[in-house]
Amino acid sequence: MVGFWPPAPYHRHVAVSAHLSTVFSFEEARRVVEEHAVGLRGRGRELIPLLDAAGRVLVETLTADRDFPPFPRAARDGYALRAADVEKVPASLEVIAEIKAGAPQLPELRPGQAAAIMTGAAAPEGSDAVVMIEHATRADDCLQVMKTVSRGENIVPTGSEARRGDKLIQPGARLGYAEIAVAAAVGRPRVLVYSKPRIAVLATGDEVVDVDVPPSPTQIRNSNSYSLAAQIQSAGAEPILLPIAPDEPARLREVLAEGFEADLLLIAGGVSMGKYDLVEQTLSELQAEFFFTGALIQPGKPIVFGRIPCGADTLIREGASPSASHKYFFGLPGNPISTMVTFELFVRPVIDRLAGAASRKLAFLHAKLKSAIKTKTGLKRFLPALISGEFEQSEVELVKWQGSGDIASAARANCFVVVPPDRERIEAGEWVPVLLR
Ligand code: AMP
Ligand code: MG
Repeated sequence: MVGFWPPAPYHRHVAVSAHLSTVFSFEEARRVVEEHAVGLRGRGRELIPLLDAAGRVLVETLTADRDFPPFPRAARDGYALRAADVEKVPASLEVIAEIKAGAPQLPELRPGQAAAIMTGAAAPEGSDAVVMIEHATRADDCLQVMKTVSRGENIVPTGSEARRGDKLIQPGARLGYAEIAVAAAVGRPRVLVYSKPRIAVLATGDEVVDVDVPPSPTQIRNSNSYSLAAQIQSAGAEPILLPIAPDEPARLREVLAEGFEADLLLIAGGVSMGKYDLVEQTLSELQAEFFFTGALIQPGKPIVFGRIPCGADTLIREGASPSASHKYFFGLPGNPISTMVTFELFVRPVIDRLAGAASRKLAFLHAKLKSAIKTKTGLKRFLPALISGEFEQSEVELVKWQGSGDIASAARANCFVVVPPDRERIEAGEWVPVLLR
């Protein structure tokens, strides 16, 4: 199981067994990454328009600038009244006003009186409930109420959602649509967020040419840099595509050094056991520590995670936070599906932290398997699959693929079925974990 990489130095975060191994189970490898990610911080900060803030991470606290709701808010269209007046129904009341949402003048209700009221309007003084419009009939000023209401029904009291000064959203929160609603509600057209972390992407291999270069018959186009760039963007970071590095030590070293200018370096390809896989050797020359050099997964087994020291003596400048003493890197296997899967499984928690957020846990959904899966034990597998059906009836089925280089199959798939390492066969109809893509 152990690759050709040198054994990782013992690290305090890593619980290793008696004989030091560099190949971990999926869960152990993920834990090692998460433990290192905890030490990372967001970089610079910027004040940006709220309309551009989706997916960004908050630096400041969003505080309620007033009570929420700021007035006792009618939650239904109907009639504001005193609950005591409709203890016995039908009950007759006098309608003295109509209150629209936003109406500045409010009447004061006396016993026996009611006011027509719209959802979102302020309930008037003297009222303590709203009876829904469908439970009353009105002829001019005469109201017949058919249904009792309890005190407080259909009125949201002032300050019941939040009090002025309450901290509603904490620093480090990722701004999704609900958080953005809060920012708007507390009057923030601009919000202070972390700068996006910069993630360098380095594709390696003599056979790889860029997308706009005509490949020779034995060359292939670089797809990994582009799929990774898309994944990096969807993780809330900014990709920096480096030139493709040939399988040649001097040039590789140059491009690696450029890559370590960024907050995190992703190296795609050149990390397996081929004779010309020079990445590990070159990283070692830069004083790299390797935390693992493989995980018991398929695709993606030769995944590498490590870091290099930064500072004057290593020519690598300090990055992310001023106190960062290391730059982390991943060596992702070059096979395109392996590159994609290992990004989803391992890289995201590091990007989360560099973006200033907490690392999101990796959650698998469950779907019913359409046809049986036969496989070998020993590796946790993430197999390209297609979810179909809808609502509570989703079913999943593997797509046919030619292995981890088969980009077209991955593009036909919309998820990965997760097969545990101890299962040889999974029957149709079983619920299986699924990683959506
Ligand atoms: P490697 O990890 O370098 O041994 O590469 C494994 C496989 O992935 C080989 O078939 C490579 O040609 C292919 N590969 C490596 N890098 C890329 C890339 N940037 N884009 C597409 N395929 C690649
Ligand atoms: Mg290669």
